[in-house]
Amino acid sequence: MKEIKAYSNVLELIGNTPLLQLNRITSQMKGNFYAKVEGFNPGHSAKDRIALHIIEKAEKEGILKPGDTIIETTSGNTGFSIAMVSVLKGYECILAVSSKSSKDKIDMLRAMGATVHVCPAHVPADDPRSYYEVAKRLHSEIANSVYINQYFNKLNIEAHYETTGPEIWEQTNGQITHLVACSGTGGTISGTARYLKEQNPNVKVIGIDAYGSVLQKYHQTREFDKNEIYPYRIEGLGKNLIPDATDFDTIDAFIKVTDEDSAHTARELARTEGIFAGYTSGAALQGIKQLDEEGVFDANSIVVVILPDHGSRYMSKVYSDEWMAQQGFLDEKTEVPQNLQYI
Ligand code: PMP
Repeated sequence: MKEIKAYSNVLELIGNTPLLQLNRITSQMKGNFYAKVEGFNPGHSAKDRIALHIIEKAEKEGILKPGDTIIETTSGNTGFSIAMVSVLKGYECILAVSSKSSKDKIDMLRAMGATVHVCPAHVPADDPRSYYEVAKRLHSEIANSVYINQYFNKLNIEAHYETTGPEIWEQTNGQITHLVACSGTGGTISGTARYLKEQNPNVKVIGIDAYGSVLQKYHQTREFDKNEIYPYRIEGLGKNLIPDATDFDTIDAFIKVTDEDSAHTARELARTEGIFAGYTSGAALQGIKQLDEEGVFDANSIVVVILPDHGSRYMSKVYSDEWMAQQGFLDEKTEVPQNLQYI
């Protein structure tokens, strides 16, 4: 048989995502802008990188053997990525999720073979029914189980230090001047920044944070201010605690973006560049718009923005006019798109 040009399984498709030049959405700005489009990962987000890295590290250390169980608390991208890697590597995957999670999300995880424990959303984190406590209990009860715990797992940073950082350095031929990335667990920005700054300490790193999150204030003062915390809509961005997976020293500044601006910018990205990306991708580009207004970039700037996931996960949110209207995001100044006709 002649050579068949095929990948041997989906795990080989993780990482090495494309760097795509932005042409239109940034046309009025000073500088050169490139998007690292993480939606091209097989699990449609940057979280594939950490799932694979953390699981393979546990295997190398002899902590995980086929048939063992992997536990995590997330209904989002990380859960899906862990479930996908578990399928390929023969692990049981148990995900403890909040009852706030949509049925679509829960069904996606189940489609990937995960067992999902739905836990009441409105109980304190230390209640035995909370998803944190359920995950901890399952971990202690199930022999040979690994709890990924992405917010407190330093391997989350390492995954991006070993993959995302070197990829961007190589793709820009070492010319990157600014990295702009969302911060949730902080793994993406910290790992990527650490690598890039080791190559060139002058690379500026700007984190995107949400209004309602403590990260920006903590970065400025190194003090946890609970008054910064209030509800907001963007999922995966910002936090109400200080994650161990964030290395604040690698980040030069944080900028905050609103739910409304981020939603509109995500929609604009699809309509201008043809990139169908998630809510936090809109947030990251919104951050770029604000940084441009502040005069942070000049004509020589080579700016890389990380777009964390694919738009398909937001059909009932950012890409739904009904949802946008319910949030009060569609009004006179932000016209409702008129591109739907029933015959
Ligand atoms: N965007 C989305 C959609 C996410 O799920 C996450 C992860 N919480 C992030 C951005 C932030 O990435 P990180 O956790 O690596 O900071």
